[in-house]
Amino acid sequence: MSAKVIAVADHRYPASAPRIPARLVAPSGELLDSLHRPLRDLRISVTDRCNFRCSYCMPREVFDRDYSFLPHSSLLTFEEIVRIARLFVAHGVRKIRLTGGEPLLRRDLERLVAMLAELPGADGGRLDLTLTTNGSILARKAEALKAAGLGRVTVSLDAIDDRVFRRMNDADFPVADVLRGIDAAERAGLGPIKVNMVVKRGTNDQEILPMARHFRGRDVALRFIEYMDVGATNGWRMDEVLPSAEVVERVAEEFALLPLPASAPGETAARWRYAEPGVAGEIGTISSVTQAFCSDCNRARLSTEGKLFLCLFASRGHDLRALVRGGASDAEIAAAIGLVWQQRDDRYSELRSAAGPQAPAGEKRVEMHYIGG
Ligand code: SAM
Ligand code: SF4
Ligand code: SF4
Repeated sequence: MSAKVIAVADHRYPASAPRIPARLVAPSGELLDSLHRPLRDLRISVTDRCNFRCSYCMPREVFDRDYSFLPHSSLLTFEEIVRIARLFVAHGVRKIRLTGGEPLLRRDLERLVAMLAELPGADGGRLDLTLTTNGSILARKAEALKAAGLGRVTVSLDAIDDRVFRRMNDADFPVADVLRGIDAAERAGLGPIKVNMVVKRGTNDQEILPMARHFRGRDVALRFIEYMDVGATNGWRMDEVLPSAEVVERVAEEFALLPLPASAPGETAARWRYAEPGVAGEIGTISSVTQAFCSDCNRARLSTEGKLFLCLFASRGHDLRALVRGGASDAEIAAAIGLVWQQRDDRYSELRSAAGPQAPAGEKRVEMHYIGG
């Protein structure tokens, strides 16, 4: 009788627990990909919908009234998400980030948070459970999220000036409501809070210093993100990328900064604290365009409809939902995840750096709101 075969996207794997080649297992027993990177961080997109239309992510001319978002039946249920997440944790994942789209738009998200918070972390410790949000309804949700077991939040905010912010989100959403959300998260104990600002040269780079001034002195990590060529709809151009080095120079002109060490292996941000003694707060830069950090990228992404993506710039995912809904056992799904990770050789940002200012050609990349930022 032939061995049962599990199909994951266009790959096929034997259903029995596979033998893992020794070179892909660290001495500690952890799973490694083909470039020897462990699996540590799982980002889960819980919805592909959003109430903002940031031009760098969901430009309104594409994501308009006629755009077909996923039907509810395509979305992984909370039970399916938790089942898959548990298997990732067994493979070494220590951090789970809920994202989207706008994750707080998913109904009853607190219930999912409570279910994920029950999962044991590595070595019996606590799982690092976090969420990235545009902050628009965070003020209403912060207490409930904390009560459900969420550890901390990252809030995206691209300007402190109301006019600039409304233009960036292209939904005429006021900055005051996001600031209220950040305050509510701080009060609820969802810290240390990170604030992410995507910097687009000529659009919001004049907001770098005002943002630093606003958050300096608070227990907030303000992180400036280079505008990336994710997806296929944002019309990315290299001349709209402001290199992180310039961002740091601009902040340092007003505030002396001291470098901080990376807080964890695979940490995406370079970090600085304010040199003035006793001043709280830090800044960070995420330089995926000018300083690729693929060599220790330990992140996997689970899309809204249950596809496993191994890189933010991937074109294709591996269909875990088909396995879950097709009756595969936990062992079979875990084996499939393990094999997919072992075959991983993604390093898009490094290849792009090597290719020069133009993004490398290739298949159409998936959109960030679907794959999870
Ligand atoms: N809606 C939530 C939010 O905005 O925080 C979560 C999803 S969003 C896709 C996650 C993160 O991706 C946000 O911090 C956003 O600013 C960032 N992002 C989206 N498109 C980007 C791009 N083209 N370049 C850099 N960062 C981007
Ligand atoms: Fe929505 Fe976040 Fe994308 Fe902005 S970055 S459009 S808030 S998903
Ligand atoms: Fe990781 Fe892909 Fe980003 Fe490189 S380009 S850091 S492999 S997500």
